[in-house]
Amino acid sequence: MTLLIAGGGIGGLTAALSLHAEGIEDVRVLEAVPEIRPLGVGLNVLPNAVKELDELGLLPRLADVSVATGDLGYYNRHGQLIWREPRGLAAGHRWPQLSIHRGRLQAVLADAVRERLGPDAVVTDTRVVDVIHTASGVRVTARHPVAGTTSTVDAEGLIGADGIRSAVRAVLGPGEGPPPWNGLVVWRGTAWVPPFLDGRSMVIAGDDRSRAVVYPMSAADERGRVLMNWAVAKAAEPGAAFEDADWNRSVEPESFVGHFAHLAFDWLDVPAVIRTATEAYIYPMVDRDPLPRWSHGAVTLIGDAAHAMYPMGSNGATQSIVDARVLAAHLARHSEVAEAFAAYEAERLPVLTRLQHSTRRRGPEIVIDLAHERAPGGFSDVREVFPGTELEDISANFARLGGFDPRTVNTMTPPGAAAGAGARR
Ligand SMILES: Cc1cc2nc3c(=O)[nH]c(=O)nc-3n(C[C@H](O)[C@H](O)[C@H](O)COP(=O)(O)OP(=O)(O)OC[C@H]3O[C@@H](n4cnc5c(N)ncnc54)[C@H](O)[C@@H]3O)c2cc1C
Repeated sequence: MTLLIAGGGIGGLTAALSLHAEGIEDVRVLEAVPEIRPLGVGLNVLPNAVKELDELGLLPRLADVSVATGDLGYYNRHGQLIWREPRGLAAGHRWPQLSIHRGRLQAVLADAVRERLGPDAVVTDTRVVDVIHTASGVRVTARHPVAGTTSTVDAEGLIGADGIRSAVRAVLGPGEGPPPWNGLVVWRGTAWVPPFLDGRSMVIAGDDRSRAVVYPMSAADERGRVLMNWAVAKAAEPGAAFEDADWNRSVEPESFVGHFAHLAFDWLDVPAVIRTATEAYIYPMVDRDPLPRWSHGAVTLIGDAAHAMYPMGSNGATQSIVDARVLAAHLARHSEVAEAFAAYEAERLPVLTRLQHSTRRRGPEIVIDLAHERAPGGFSDVREVFPGTELEDISANFARLGGFDPRTVNTMTPPGAAAGAGARR
């Protein structure tokens, strides 16, 4: 039995490891790029996904190359604290929240896939361009850009984990077009700078027009500096356009840092961090419309291919990891690939659709918009701006929506536990 995975990103590699852990070993990851390189900047993996990576035996390796986030604080444009909450272990989760460079996370996953499934389990220079159903499963067509060739391969099923511009999604639902843009531009990068606050804090600061997200992703080096992730966003200039959402479009910090001059506080100077950048990229804030279905017979979608979201609340990598684990559990327990894919979709699609809608309303970051709307000049007591339990409720509701509140994570049944009993290995 052969399963193909289109895309060797966070979701695709986790799917390969999860299938292997379920005893399904004839799995190949088809990756478009000629070589997996440590691309991207920072992301956060929430405790519900860290639990899954721990069950795959990867937590010690990941802990070495990440920071266990201690708290998350939301601030207004004047640097006044709106809301701070403990995260991960500090919040009572049995697993930490990890702030990590995407390239390091991908490298840990790719190394584990090659160790466990064999050196040829990830096939690079293989861009999936088409898939059709056959009597025994699927026939996948791929282009090999470097080799300049095209090939086809048959399998029992195809998992589309090929990201926000998924070719598999485009085959399943032709005519969708490029990911819709909400008019915000995001500049993101990394910098080696001294830590701020207690060295484990994640900060989101700004107003209704512009904001910054900053957090450390490494322990201090011999000079006391940490690898800091930063991202800043604001509305695009009139007439600005992006031909395509390219994660790797480099940009000079001086071309945009002036827009964020007001985010210089005595406890964190965002423009100074940006000016120290070792890398900086520009990206439009795009997502995908929720789909009515992800699974079509022996083809399904996971991660960004299924439900790309705005980066509000750290759900991109997190939910792709959970998708991969749930999908593998269903494949292990159903005798038919199509049945397993349908069961996975039934478990995950409603949850992710609600999350996609929530991130379009800014998710938990809405507190920054509300603080600006109600007290643009700042406040002397945040409780006068947010009476009652409004702040607690916004935070707790989003955590429940994403399945990462401590109670759910700590007592969670194994993914796919609702699946039937018929084993397929
Ligand atoms: C280069 C890059 C940089 C990123 N940087 C950041 C970041 O800094 N911060 C952040 O929060 N998120 C970043 N992301 C997105 C983030 O990884 C995802 O939102 C999240 O991890 C969900 O993972 P995924 O596996 O669904 O998609 P991704 O991690 O995007 O992985 C998709 C994979 O599929 C491959 N692929 C694409 N098309 C095909 C095809 N037709 N056939 C075969 N393979 C294909 C891609 O090369 C990629 O390896 C980045 C993604 C990429 C690809």
